[in-house]
Amino acid sequence: MQAITTHYIDGEAVDSHGREVMDIVNPANERIIGQVTLGDDEDARRAIAAAKRAFATFSQTTREERIELLRRLHKAVLARADDLTNIMVEEYGGVVQFVAPIVQAAADVFLAAEQALQGLPLVRTWGSTTVTLEPVGVAGLITPWNANAMFLCMKLSSAIAAGCTAVVKPSELSSLQTQVWLECLRAANLPKGVCNVVIGRGEVVGAEMVRSPDVAKISFTGSAAVGRTIMRDGAATMKRVTLELGGKSPNIILDDADLARAIPLALSIGFMNSGQACLAGTRLLAPKSRLDDVRRALADFMPAFAAGNPADPKTGVGPMVNLKQWDRVQAYIRKGIEEGAEVLAGGEGHPPGLETGFFVKPTVFLGTNDMAIAREEIFGPVLTVIPYEDDEDAIRIANDTEYGLHGYVSGADIERARRVASRIRAGRVAINGLLDDPLAPFGGFKSSGIGREFGAYGIEAFLEPRAILE
Ligand code: NAD
Repeated sequence: MQAITTHYIDGEAVDSHGREVMDIVNPANERIIGQVTLGDDEDARRAIAAAKRAFATFSQTTREERIELLRRLHKAVLARADDLTNIMVEEYGGVVQFVAPIVQAAADVFLAAEQALQGLPLVRTWGSTTVTLEPVGVAGLITPWNANAMFLCMKLSSAIAAGCTAVVKPSELSSLQTQVWLECLRAANLPKGVCNVVIGRGEVVGAEMVRSPDVAKISFTGSAAVGRTIMRDGAATMKRVTLELGGKSPNIILDDADLARAIPLALSIGFMNSGQACLAGTRLLAPKSRLDDVRRALADFMPAFAAGNPADPKTGVGPMVNLKQWDRVQAYIRKGIEEGAEVLAGGEGHPPGLETGFFVKPTVFLGTNDMAIAREEIFGPVLTVIPYEDDEDAIRIANDTEYGLHGYVSGADIERARRVASRIRAGRVAINGLLDDPLAPFGGFKSSGIGREFGAYGIEAFLEPRAILE
């Protein structure tokens, strides 16, 4: 059993000033697999001071020096891909079929940042004025637990590409994963103080980062509720913020879609990361004219998404991260039933044979867009099928949400699918697939957040224009 008692500050493992000890529990079997001593506001201040010292020199590095660093980080993370995958499966119960490609993508994000940095004009001239894009300052990077390696690599790659130093506060539910990631940072031989990591509670360590006048920018991924707190509290020091928040993404199945393809894809999109994914397509918009076919296809493909051991490559849905999340998902399933939604698959309680561990039954409801199960982010494997009349009705329902992180469209006529996609108010819309592009911007409309990550957009979020006039 691993005991974590240090933070990573100024290139060293530093004993935690905070004293609270938290158990780390494997959600697939409820066994305690480690303990972490959580940092406090003093640990946060030490990390911020180290990042501030390092900023004086790191902000002056050349593009080429930072590119070299990004390459080293890519190699270092890639070399530990298997270890990162295994610990992510063990610590938060992510299914290996999701986690393994995410870790690979996390390593590759450094190469994408390098490519974006190569092409980014950092100096622009307007007449006799020269505009340079300057690193904004010390960046506070605050991440959730649901794809730890990805969020850490994505945020750090952009901050480094821009010439910012960082204080990272990963979720306390990712403490073991973060230790492997720290070994990658050491292997990459980062200059001291460029990246400092404090594990602790959000309302303690995170809040100190948000309060600190020495932190110029917060890049946050997490819930909309915490995002609002960060924006409000950050206003006192005029923080720059990038907020990547929740979603309730629509997946429109057009009436010409091949259901043998579109339905298994819809289940992969809806149950992604056991439903614990911000971009999960949890509202499945199905044409009324083909509702019976959709029901039949769902029944055919659901067995492939049974809950089970997350380390088994065949498992589609793993446990929820902790008991709190298990309770939350159960409450939503109950609510769906109370609201009158029809249960097409799953339902309340543990799946048979999986009474130990925070497993839920992957659940599909047939409901309406005004139900809580269709409006609120559940963050579990719960899908709501919502029937629509025609394309206009589908677009209206898709946009009738407070969120706007992602959208999905499936259909045979690609021009028609593009027309529908172009009307969805979301940061990304994927046509006929679960698609990714590490250079494409990622972020949300409406309550799904502010700002964009990945590629040039991600780097620019850590830059500030300065004009020199002659
Ligand atoms: P969360 O908001 O509870 O926590 C996220 C991080 O913020 C954690 O590190 C937490 O310790 C910290 N935090 C909590 N309170 C804070 C405060 N007052 N000040 C500063 N930091 C604080 O979210 P979670 O439960 O860890 O993750 C699930 C949520 O994240 C879901 O809503 C999901 O949609 C969202 N998410 C969004 C994206 C995206 O890219 N848009 C990606 C993944 C997850």
